[in-house]
Amino acid sequence: MSKPCIDLDACMRCGACVGTCPVNAMFLKEYTVEVNDDCTSCGLCEKVCPVGAVSLGGE
Ligand code: SF4
Ligand code: SF4
Repeated sequence: MSKPCIDLDACMRCGACVGTCPVNAMFLKEYTVEVNDDCTSCGLCEKVCPVGAVSLGGE
């Protein structure tokens, strides 16, 4: 399983991904969005991001 990768140039730090994560594995920092090891790779954050800045599955 892979954790989501955040495109920090596209991310506008809206917090939508953080709010939708069912296991609270995402954290909004001043300049980044961090994902910890609680992530289950469910993909919800990828779906909810309004600017498509979240990608799972290693592209
Ligand atoms: S939902 Fe997308 S734009 Fe919003 S904080 Fe998360 S990665 Fe950034
Ligand atoms: S893939 Fe799912 S569990 Fe992992 S950070 Fe995104 S919403 Fe949370």
